[in-house]
Amino acid sequence: MEIHVNLELTDHCNIKCGMCSQSLRDDAHGVPKRFMPWETWKKALAGLADMEEEVHLCPHWLGEPTIHPEFDRFVEYAFAVNQQNRLFREFKLHTNAVVFSEDRSRLLVDLAQASGQLEDTFRWVHFSVDAFSPEAYSLVKGADRREQVYQNIHRFLEIRNARGARWPKVTLAFVVQPGNDHEAGDFLRHWQGTLQGLGCESRVTWDWPHELLDTIYFRPLNTGDQITADRLHAQTIQSLGLTVPKTDRLRSAESF
Ligand code: SF4
Repeated sequence: MEIHVNLELTDHCNIKCGMCSQSLRDDAHGVPKRFMPWETWKKALAGLADMEEEVHLCPHWLGEPTIHPEFDRFVEYAFAVNQQNRLFREFKLHTNAVVFSEDRSRLLVDLAQASGQLEDTFRWVHFSVDAFSPEAYSLVKGADRREQVYQNIHRFLEIRNARGARWPKVTLAFVVQPGNDHEAGDFLRHWQGTLQGLGCESRVTWDWPHELLDTIYFRPLNTGDQITADRLHAQTIQSLGLTVPKTDRLRSAESF
């Protein structure tokens, strides 16, 4: 049996997505936002050694993990102490890619190729993008960072490609909502073209990604008015010409 462990490096974030309750509150967990101390990270990782289940580790729950002042050190350490996968079987990073330098991309690709662990241990980098145009990005993400984010993701893919690395796979996520639904097609064509140009096999999904391929992922918005949000998501996906059930709700129970 597998267990998903989220060790939240921070509940701070550097942007303010309108869809995110974390971004709208000063105290996401009922206490002031913080960064995880080094000793806590070491102890938490050490505790994984005793888990009976297969651990799938993600250094994120709320917030943006890459803005932790010691993010690179934390992740490097996690892989260094995971020899023979004794702590975790899989690793997944969620990021908005605002702070994603060339050095960081190289480090992450190198960690995914590190010896002493199964080759697909660093399984995913999930890029939370949600827009194609700078205008929609500013509206949906609450920050003027579209160009930087696209540059950072392109560079990461090019570095992975240049290394001939199979892992990590990426998800390029787009939460369908008022303000970006009109440019889902542009988003799809941009990233499909980019991945094809790099020779990467990819897929498009409107539900939680399962296949181990680079994935362009159109996700429904979670909101108080779920019926309206699901309907917009379904209409948007159907407008892309993807083969989907003709229903107002396109997701399985395990999606979130
Ligand atoms: S990047 Fe993530 S944590 Fe930050 S505001 Fe957006 S959804 Fe929330």
